[in-house]
Amino acid sequence: MRDCVKFYIDGRWVEPVGTGKFEVIDPATERVAGQLRMGAAEDVNRAVTAARRAFDTYSRTTREQRVELLQRVAAQFEARKADLQAAVTAEMGCPNWLAEQAQVPLPATHINVAIELLKTYAFDHLSGITMVSKKPIGVCALITPWNWPISLAITKIIPALAVGCTMVWKPSEFAPFSAQILAEIMEAAKVPPGVFNMIFGDGPTVGAALSSHPEVDAVSITGSTRAGVEVARNAAATVKRVHQELGGKSPNVILEDADLEKAVASGVRYMFLNSGQTCSVPSRMIVPRSKLEQVVAIAKATAETLQVGPPDSGAFVGPLVNASQWNRVQQLIQKGIDEGATLVVGGVGKPAGLAQGYYVKPTIFSDVTNDMTIAREEIFGPVLAIEPYDSVDEAVRIANDTPYGLAAYVHAGTLEKAREVGSRIRAGQVCLNGDLDLLDPHSPFGGCKMSGNGREWGAFGFEAFLEETAYVGYQPASAAS
Ligand code: NAD
Repeated sequence: MRDCVKFYIDGRWVEPVGTGKFEVIDPATERVAGQLRMGAAEDVNRAVTAARRAFDTYSRTTREQRVELLQRVAAQFEARKADLQAAVTAEMGCPNWLAEQAQVPLPATHINVAIELLKTYAFDHLSGITMVSKKPIGVCALITPWNWPISLAITKIIPALAVGCTMVWKPSEFAPFSAQILAEIMEAAKVPPGVFNMIFGDGPTVGAALSSHPEVDAVSITGSTRAGVEVARNAAATVKRVHQELGGKSPNVILEDADLEKAVASGVRYMFLNSGQTCSVPSRMIVPRSKLEQVVAIAKATAETLQVGPPDSGAFVGPLVNASQWNRVQQLIQKGIDEGATLVVGGVGKPAGLAQGYYVKPTIFSDVTNDMTIAREEIFGPVLAIEPYDSVDEAVRIANDTPYGLAAYVHAGTLEKAREVGSRIRAGQVCLNGDLDLLDPHSPFGGCKMSGNGREWGAFGFEAFLEETAYVGYQPASAAS
């Protein structure tokens, strides 16, 4: 049992004002794994007040001081890697191998990339008579989900710290163990009091209080489109900057001349990774009708090699995060069947031998049309829709026929062809002829359309927390010409 009963505010662990409690259920066993206290609006006030007070001093620290601070954070993060791995397994049922190989190393990479970028990042530049200075935007509210809980928090906390912002972080109530360790890391790294604050709570209470707080200058949320819209609505009255990293329904376009075996197998593996609980998963595999039979055979064979099981079993796929997600995914699988898609593998119910835990049968549907619910809604579970097309134009049309625009994948016989088709798809990130390992921490990450606003990662992550001030007349016209 782990208890998360205190909040980290102004450099201290304090008793929350909110009296609500939340039980954390281990998704692999359905047993209670711990509990946390849920904050109230008054906890938000305390944390925002601390962040506001700290901003004046912290925003004027030098680049060198902040590089040193981030280096201390990196060292503490390294020291707590094993604890972080155990935490994501306990709170979201993450397979041990995935925690070790991705959930913890990815954020470590983002920290190191930020440190290197900060050493030379151009905060100021002269333009004629004007000095344009990028300045920290102020007090930031950071709201994050549970699915890649460490990475998605680090890609907000670290750039905010790097550029001189202060912050209040509200992690997901479904991933409090890793959040508590991250706060301990900030404490051990001697982040100055008030610069980093963490409070637990739900969206409608704490998330809404943060989004509408007059002393918060910017809100950055990663979560569902529904929550992102709520945040923007609550932030509107005080004209805050709102950064949204939201849902997706990403197309994976496989062209006639692609290496079919590689493209289909990697698409299936990526779809089932983290039990399908990744915002950018290639959930719609768009394939030539002439190759449909071959594609289905490869997809089925690949799915059958990917075991489902408890985190310590070595299985590729673990459980879903909670009972409500399990029920929702079951309903969507049933909807796929009812609407006439062809079930290739998987289906409703729990996998054999896994009665306890929120396990889902990794499911593949073929003959999916883009108007079916399973092609339109973000499922957030291991459910792949294979959609046939008759021409490249039709493939592009299907790929773009979605309210989302987070990621897209294109596989072609040549990189040139992949680039050409990729350029016609509207998404924040288009992966060309790649496998699971195609990841560039320097590239911008974020969505078009209803997948969001703004970009994270690398230098783009810094910009999310900066705003420009123009010092006009900084130098005389004679010197500028
Ligand atoms: P969620 O929207 O339920 O919750 C995300 C966070 O927002 C949580 O901390 C939650 O408490 C908070 N929240 C919820 N309602 C709120 C409100 N009204 N005001 C303020 N905060 C509120 O999402 P989830 O189930 O935790 O995560 C899954 C979703 O996140 C999926 O839609 C997925 O696509 C998305 N996601 C997006 C990205 C990305 O980078 N674009 C990455 C990961 C996950």
